[in-house]
Amino acid sequence: MDGDRHRELTLIGAGLAGSLLAILLSQRGWKVTVYERRGDPRIKGYESGRSINLALAERGRHALRTAGVDEAVMAQAVMMRGRMIHGLDGSLQLQPYGRDDSEVIWSVHRADLNITLLQAAERAGATIHFHRRLHTVDFDAGYARLIDDRDDQPQDIRFSTLIGSDGAGSALRAEMVRRAGIGERTEFLDHSYKELTIPPADDGGFRIEPNALHIWPRGRYMCIALPNDERTFTVTLFLPNHAAPGSGDPSFASVRSGTEVRALFARDFPDALPLIPDLEQDWEHHPPGLLGTLYLDRWHLGARAVVLGDAAHAMVPFHGQGMNCAFEDCVALADAMDREASLAQAFAAFEQERKPNAAAIQAMALENYIEMRDRVDDPAFLLQRELERALQHRHPTRFVPHYTMVTFMRTPYAVALERSEIQRELLVEATQGRRDLSGIDWEALGRRVHERLPVLEGAH
Ligand SMILES: Cc1cc2nc3c(=O)[nH]c(=O)nc-3n(C[C@H](O)[C@H](O)[C@H](O)COP(=O)(O)OP(=O)(O)OC[C@H]3O[C@@H](n4cnc5c(N)ncnc54)[C@H](O)[C@@H]3O)c2cc1C
Repeated sequence: MDGDRHRELTLIGAGLAGSLLAILLSQRGWKVTVYERRGDPRIKGYESGRSINLALAERGRHALRTAGVDEAVMAQAVMMRGRMIHGLDGSLQLQPYGRDDSEVIWSVHRADLNITLLQAAERAGATIHFHRRLHTVDFDAGYARLIDDRDDQPQDIRFSTLIGSDGAGSALRAEMVRRAGIGERTEFLDHSYKELTIPPADDGGFRIEPNALHIWPRGRYMCIALPNDERTFTVTLFLPNHAAPGSGDPSFASVRSGTEVRALFARDFPDALPLIPDLEQDWEHHPPGLLGTLYLDRWHLGARAVVLGDAAHAMVPFHGQGMNCAFEDCVALADAMDREASLAQAFAAFEQERKPNAAAIQAMALENYIEMRDRVDDPAFLLQRELERALQHRHPTRFVPHYTMVTFMRTPYAVALERSEIQRELLVEATQGRRDLSGIDWEALGRRVHERLPVLEGAH
């Protein structure tokens, strides 16, 4: 590769994408230096206002395998076979995600995952400096200013190439916007979230089914819970910031105190209430988290800088794909750097490959909020899911459920979106006015499937 005589790269941010990318690039012989705003989580404990656990799916696992860290991460992961739907009447219904235990997702602890990746990055040869927040960049001169937030001390460094893995609030992206106007736009959702905890049971076990992602769908809002390997669950309550006039819905504007949140749980999530003994304290101590989608026209400036992960395309969390997509970015960038003749060409190829796919998963993540909070207990939706499974069984290489393409395969997100739209049309048409699948003309429907859906690579 031309233009990289020293094979030196400077990464900003040692979160999930930054630490994985540091492994991949160090393994490929690059001299990688990473600057991270926070302290070393191995010394001080993990400081993060972000979600405590995350759903890891095939795209993320593939990236972890490529870096040789999948086994270490999976040792602490908890399997989630499907959605456990909690009705208002206390009813429970498990909706499996896939056909068997080879099609499941995994709950992983953000801090443990980050630490595993940081350790592997150092073992692979990367140098990581903590307490170094990127402040400003002079792209022409190749200087960047970092600040140690403990004492406000600045440090200036020389760089030839900066890679921004500094998350949704990326300072590198802000500097790129300032330098070249790369078309940044954030659309905030008018819903936010709060995290609460279900502790272990008195006997030290899980209080509810561990191998599921629990959902309490309530129309325009919802609660979810993911298991942690220390037998706790992290509960996330998603509410509108302001309720629609006349809806009577709860919102962050109307539920402000611990007493109000207890009343909300007693009314809308009665089976969850006894599971969260510290409800009021959790509520009062955790600020609500904002949710938004970040769009960027350009992800790179020649060979000088490139952004990836949340820094390039933060998304709402409802498909559980933000980290998975960020990990897929890391592999795509490392591959482009192996393949292309110069860094500028590699960054351009990376952007061209990943931008439409990031836009597709951002759109699917927004749609999935409506599915999770409003549709998972709707009879028409459930009948469509039943037909989807039947069509997958009859045409396994052509009719691959939306969730399977996104979660258990590495079908490019843009392809998954396009095929999902066609499949949805077929499902809606075929189930319209029906209460069950008797009376479906399977032959005619099979012909439509063959006409509209070519064989999908990797489907079986
Ligand atoms: C509530 C919620 C639930 C989620 N659930 C899932 C899920 O189930 N599955 C999934 O795949 N994704 C999920 N996500 C998305 C996931 O958290 C992100 O997509 C992922 O963390 C992106 O990784 P990243 O490395 O790009 O950014 P981050 O993980 O945010 O890392 C950025 C790093 O950069 C550092 N940094 C920031 N600014 C600077 C600076 N100026 N200088 C130096 N360092 C800096 C930060 O300290 C941090 O370490 C969820 C997100 C939320 C909010």
